[in-house]
Amino acid sequence: MDINENENKKGKDDIEFKIITLGNPGVGKTSIIQRYVSDDFNINQLSTLGISYSFKVMQVKERNLRFKLIDTGGQEKYRSLAVSYFRHVDVVLFVFDLNNKSSFDSVQYWIDLFNEHNNNKNIKAKYIIGNKNDLEQKVDQNLIDELTTRNDNIKYWSTSAKTKSQIDYLFSLIGFDLYEYLQKKENNKNEPNSNKSKTLSKNHGSKKKGFC
Ligand code: GDP
Ligand code: MG
Repeated sequence: MDINENENKKGKDDIEFKIITLGNPGVGKTSIIQRYVSDDFNINQLSTLGISYSFKVMQVKERNLRFKLIDTGGQEKYRSLAVSYFRHVDVVLFVFDLNNKSSFDSVQYWIDLFNEHNNNKNIKAKYIIGNKNDLEQKVDQNLIDELTTRNDNIKYWSTSAKTKSQIDYLFSLIGFDLYEYLQKKENNKNEPNSNKSKTLSKNHGSKKKGFC
């Protein structure tokens, strides 16, 4: 697959997708975005106030996918602000710190909060991200697997914003999910029996698929 990335301004053929990061303060949400967008890492990353955005364009084959990355401050006082964005996002990343068990224990809270306020119509892919894989892992892998299995249509990925481990690959996977989504949407539109094909794919869909 051909994937090129750049920080272009929105071109007329770009298709915009909104990607939001959720999780406890300090897990590395801002650092993951900063590493991906600017290839930069700050050991004293300031905590995010409210919501901030950054953009990056990824070219997948003939398509320009424009990622709007929505970074949320995890503190209680910003929670209702973050919630107001949930309905409109295409991809959600639930981030925890592999070195901090209590941040993992909160992931189900973030998933439930998101599901409660997202109508599941727009969402194309959901990921649980275990960040800081450069540090000692203090979360049992079986618990991570259980959490991933318990929640529908969600994938697990581990990263390090510090060492850059798996960060670019994560966004390539997201790009691939979105590209597949666009292909499916167009195929459905072009097929005469599009309702029939929808029913079939629903019945045969695997639980771990990235589309909901
Ligand atoms: P946020 O509150 O979730 O946005 O977390 P930040 O991105 O502000 O990161 C919190 C702290 O963790 C900062 O001191 C970062 O430098 C550090 N950090 C973020 N990602 C990593 C990582 O992958 N490995 C390590 N060792 N530290 C990280
Ligand atoms: Mg932050």
